[in-house]
Amino acid sequence: MSKDILDLAGIGIGPFNLSVAALLDRHPDLNVGFFDSKPAFDWHPGMQLPGARLQTSCLKDLVTSADPCNPWSFLNYLVQKRRIYPFLSADMATISRREFADYLGWVASHLPNLYFRHEVQSVTFEDGLFQLFFRHRPEPVYSRNLCIGTGIRAHIPKACQALPENKRIHCINLRNRDRDFTGQHVAIIGGGQSGAEVMLGLLDGLWGKPASIRWLSRRSNFEPLDETPFTNLYFTPGYVNTFHNLPEQRRRELVHDQKLASDGISPDTLQALYQRLYEYPFEEPQRPMPDLLPGRTLHAVSEGSPMTLLTHNSLDDQFEEFQAEQLILCTGFDQELASCLAPLEQKLHRDTKGHPRMKHSFNLNWDGPDNRAIYAVNQGRFSHGVADSQLSLMSWRSAIIVNHLLGEAHYPVEEQGIPVQWSSQAVGSRVQEEAKGKILPHAIESI
Ligand SMILES: Cc1cc2nc3c(=O)[nH]c(=O)nc-3n(C[C@H](O)[C@H](O)[C@H](O)COP(=O)(O)OP(=O)(O)OC[C@H]3O[C@@H](n4cnc5c(N)ncnc54)[C@H](O)[C@@H]3O)c2cc1C
Repeated sequence: MSKDILDLAGIGIGPFNLSVAALLDRHPDLNVGFFDSKPAFDWHPGMQLPGARLQTSCLKDLVTSADPCNPWSFLNYLVQKRRIYPFLSADMATISRREFADYLGWVASHLPNLYFRHEVQSVTFEDGLFQLFFRHRPEPVYSRNLCIGTGIRAHIPKACQALPENKRIHCINLRNRDRDFTGQHVAIIGGGQSGAEVMLGLLDGLWGKPASIRWLSRRSNFEPLDETPFTNLYFTPGYVNTFHNLPEQRRRELVHDQKLASDGISPDTLQALYQRLYEYPFEEPQRPMPDLLPGRTLHAVSEGSPMTLLTHNSLDDQFEEFQAEQLILCTGFDQELASCLAPLEQKLHRDTKGHPRMKHSFNLNWDGPDNRAIYAVNQGRFSHGVADSQLSLMSWRSAIIVNHLLGEAHYPVEEQGIPVQWSSQAVGSRVQEEAKGKILPHAIESI
């Protein structure tokens, strides 16, 4: 790596920062470096389960929607791997997660300026420059700007935090080691896509033959991802721009309301699971039927072997107890800025719930010079909406970041689209005032 000062230092090389790096590859005039603690690129290896598929179109790749001629597109990967004709004949709506991981790895293996085995331990800001300190590299790296792409952290529910780690495996680590749950009473906690995939894996005997399988979900049913066209508009630039301008409280409510747009179970997975359960008594006559337990909130887990799970059923308002020897947590992720940014904490602006405040160009609000930016990818669920943690707008976001870094509108980021008008049309206070006069007093309270 050049010893010069970088224009941009990326921390973390998951798909989101890889997308920024792929666009920047077309701008060799900029001096950039991306750093990751892993020995090589690897996309969620713990959840590369057989049969798992991407929940988004393969055109929502690292670059295409921002820069379709960029060589690091999924289509070019297929051409270079001599797989384009087999792909076209396969006529698939989605590709496998393994193929997408291979595509990402292919890009990572070709891009310059990616440095693995480089765990960033801390970042300071002095004399107008960010200074990155590493665990295994003695000399720091200096940069004018940062792009934080350190991903999100496995969420461990409070009730499970005191348990020994080998008794409560988070699904993100499931395949990182050989597991064998044969003869054990296993409980899956969490009813989203990961929970469904783990359930299928257990039914298929991926980790041996458990003595019993229970699947607990707080949601009132095993609910599908909403992939219908108008819901998909939440994953478009026009909606994200509108969302970003709303007040904090309203944004928080919308993220809650739009949960199933990003967090439900793929209809294909639900279908496969249901059919697998239907046929289970004939295919596995010696094994007990699994228990599916929706509407259950986990309140406490008592240590011991087996553990006792205390849950509350929201359907009939009753408490129940279940036994388990092994918990698999499919409990999602927490969005938190990486601990290496702790030295900058006093300079960062947070909202009332502690999330970083972020400007439209995905740069954090901070007490620093205007010509120094801290961009962050996958930290903007409450500032930019549910699309932020998904692949859908990854390349659009990268284009906005690169445009901001270049100081020019190099990539087109505005869209012409469907005539849904999210915001009220620009009306003066006259309409607001007259409306109040026309509406009955009791109705005004409900506005
Ligand atoms: C199993 C799974 C499947 C998913 N499937 C889809 C899908 O089909 N469609 C969709 O739209 N979204 C999907 N998502 C959501 C999202 O696209 C992925 O989570 C995506 O990997 C997020 O990318 P990222 O770059 O933010 O983080 P990550 O992929 O988590 O990468 C973060 C990187 O930062 C590195 N890092 C962290 N701290 C440091 C440090 N201090 N120093 C150096 N390196 C560091 C880590 O080693 C890691 O490589 C999925 C998520 C999961 C968990």
